[in-house]
Amino acid sequence: MSAQTEDWKQKYRELAIEFEQNQGRTQKQESSLGQIISSMVLALEGEDAKLDLELNELKSTINKGMAPEPLSRLSKRLDKQIRARDESRDKNARKVFEALNRWIRQLRTATQHPPMLNVLDSYEKRSEQAAEEMYHLPALLTDLVELQAGIKESPATATDSKPESDDAMAGLNDEEMSRLLQTVANELSALVAGLYLPPHEHEQSKQLIAKIERGFDLAELPSLLRQVIQLVSKVSTTGNEDFESYLRALSSQLSEVETFITESRQDQSGAGENQRKLNQAVRSNVKQMHDVVKSSDDLGELKKAVASQLSHVIKAMDEFKREEDERENRLAQRYDGLLKKVEQMEQETREVQAHMEEERARATTDALTSLPNRAAYDERITETLANWERYKTHFSVVVGDLDFFKRINDTYGHLAGDKVLRLIGKVLRAKLRTTDFVARYGGEEFVIIMPSTQAKEAHQAVDKIRQAIAKSPFNFHGKPVTVTMSFGVTEVQDDDNVESLFSRADEMLYKAKANGRNQACVS
Ligand code: GH3
Ligand code: MG
Ligand code: MG
Repeated sequence: MSAQTEDWKQKYRELAIEFEQNQGRTQKQESSLGQIISSMVLALEGEDAKLDLELNELKSTINKGMAPEPLSRLSKRLDKQIRARDESRDKNARKVFEALNRWIRQLRTATQHPPMLNVLDSYEKRSEQAAEEMYHLPALLTDLVELQAGIKESPATATDSKPESDDAMAGLNDEEMSRLLQTVANELSALVAGLYLPPHEHEQSKQLIAKIERGFDLAELPSLLRQVIQLVSKVSTTGNEDFESYLRALSSQLSEVETFITESRQDQSGAGENQRKLNQAVRSNVKQMHDVVKSSDDLGELKKAVASQLSHVIKAMDEFKREEDERENRLAQRYDGLLKKVEQMEQETREVQAHMEEERARATTDALTSLPNRAAYDERITETLANWERYKTHFSVVVGDLDFFKRINDTYGHLAGDKVLRLIGKVLRAKLRTTDFVARYGGEEFVIIMPSTQAKEAHQAVDKIRQAIAKSPFNFHGKPVTVTMSFGVTEVQDDDNVESLFSRADEMLYKAKANGRNQACVS
């Protein structure tokens, strides 16, 4: 055998080894793609029952080896699920918008006070935004509730001289009142039904709707509204638009992965074809060489024939190598592109998560004082009460309210009033224990939860803070002005609920006010 023959045999062997290695690499790429899809599926799960079914199927399809046809069918169905979610969300948004507007119209009929009417105009605009982006709802609802309370206080409507009935509904007879409450009930239940809530909140929203539909009187309205707001704050963390568009992007990402797999499979069968062509070319050349050697006795002629056959073989192998290289390159490029997209997806996931956390923080923080707001208090007190029921870890609740705060606003202006509220917030936070929870409950009212604290200790602690506030005057235009606060203190009792606990503390606050203010009363 000549050196040249040895040489092409060697070359052929090397090519066969390289081919096997390429095949191994493709399998590895396929399995890491499988892992990528699995983690994307994990990120999507738990959003929607129907979507979960499709995702489960996707998972088992991947486990079976990513056949292209089922993947393509699944990808189409996933797309459909997500579009359906979109449509139902739009419908809900319209319902929320209509409910809010009817509520605003209702409030409009209860006041003739021009500033209130202006505010209502602006709320009407905001309701449009809130229906589009649910995370604006808590703020709007809080403002509506405050406005409703404001209408109660508004002198423009307080024409009735009876003190207990000088509210928005003053002047209504029983029948009118019950009709009005019925309208409010309809609006509220439409509003709650329209919220796009995660599955584990559905039970709570059903209960709330049932409660609203059973009927309620005026005194129960604020507590119902608080519960509605609490539910709405759940919407802001789970149903926001960013998450929706993230889901959509993820779905299109999945279909790209599917395309990639289909194409690389086609390439792989192309590789088999290359190999077969090479084998055939080599085999027919070797056969021809054999024939030439057998039939020829002219050595020169023989050499020439063998050389020509060898050059054919080498050409076939070069062709094989070139096609294999191209195939490898195509695959590598597509794989790189896909990896980049996945990295981008991961980046987007992180951003969406950060954004959702930010939104949640915004929904539970009071903008003026940066303290937790009423929604945050509602959440915390519910938790604290649940712990109390389970472990009997007693605690106290304190309600504090600035004395004659209206005067500060009237004398020094609203901005000065705001500054006082901010400072008081700071003082409370600084003087309380880090384990104590303090929130701005609304207006010039603050609420504190003191864990593992009995009423007596809570009373002492709050009284110290009260004295400190009274002793350190605030400066307005260089003049020191004393600001004082009154507090109501109570300790949790058996069978307490959020409302009973708060109203006991509130009664004590009322007592402190009635006794002359700048004091803390304990129940
Ligand atoms: P009392 O001692 O009985 O509590 O008297 P008060 O004047 O503090 O109570 P009232 O409820 O009559 O008035 C509370 C005032 O607090 C009315 C409202 O203008 C003001 N207020 C509520 N929220 C804010 C706010 O965010 N900023 C400012 N500057 N004032 C506010
Ligand atoms: Mg006050
Ligand atoms: Mg007050």
